[in-house]
Amino acid sequence: MAKFALVTGGSRGIGRAVCEELATMGYQILINYRSNKEEAEKTLESVRQKGTDGLLMKFDVGNQKETDEILGDWIEKNSDHVLEILVNNAGVRKDNLMMMMPPEEWREVLNISVDGFYNVTRLVLKGMIYNKYGRIINIVSLSGIKGLPGQTNYSASKAAVIGATKALAQEIGRRGITVNAVAPGFIKTDMTQDIKEVDYKSIIPIGRFGEAKEVADVVGFLASTKASYITGEVICVSGGLH
Ligand code: NAP
Repeated sequence: MAKFALVTGGSRGIGRAVCEELATMGYQILINYRSNKEEAEKTLESVRQKGTDGLLMKFDVGNQKETDEILGDWIEKNSDHVLEILVNNAGVRKDNLMMMMPPEEWREVLNISVDGFYNVTRLVLKGMIYNKYGRIINIVSLSGIKGLPGQTNYSASKAAVIGATKALAQEIGRRGITVNAVAPGFIKTDMTQDIKEVDYKSIIPIGRFGEAKEVADVVGFLASTKASYITGEVICVSGGLH
């Protein structure tokens, strides 16, 4: 019996750093991605260098049928293994002013974040409840707490997942499963490559953008037994920016 962790959007950025962190904790990693196989393979290589193993799992978290087919099938065929950790990390930004925002930009961002949370978490929960142990960590954003102009879709999507985190934590706390959210501020990844650090660092108390690993370290803590009495929380990893 092997212990597994599933990281959605594990091919790049914060997701990759989370895969690496959970690998150092001894987990085998299910690395989900949507299209970038080359980057996903680099994550798998990096996981192997940490002394464990993993496998690539290509599906669009926003597509329920695809998620059921790929992830549901793996869960069904691997009932001898335990999926202990779920990190709902997959997400996209499609920034626009509300009055200019076409419906597809609204829907895509909410679909991946909110439907993605539902599609994946629902499948994974059953096994966690059966095992009476689990850790669910949702990567949200400061944008979902304070709201940011130009990001009504993104802020709404992350705020929705914060609400879901708090509700689910209360539903399943007695079953040994914790549910928490991590809210990064500005982190250096592909998602923020169009945002200049020099324009924003003066408003960040720590004075710089964060590294993906700094988010992954907090995820690793929440995924560990050390965080057994923490649930329904949102932890900001934002260099003090609020
Ligand atoms: P990133 O570098 O753009 O990586 C996004 C990841 O999500 C990729 O692995 C991508 O897969 C995957 N993905 C996107 N849509 C998907 C879908 N429909 N199904 C499955 N996988 C999908 O982004 P990041 O900066 O690491 O962000 C990770 C999370 O942190 C996101 O939820 C983001 O909103 C949140 N966040 C980031 C920041 C920041 O400053 N970077 C701040 C706050 C919150 P492919 O490689 O296949 O495209």
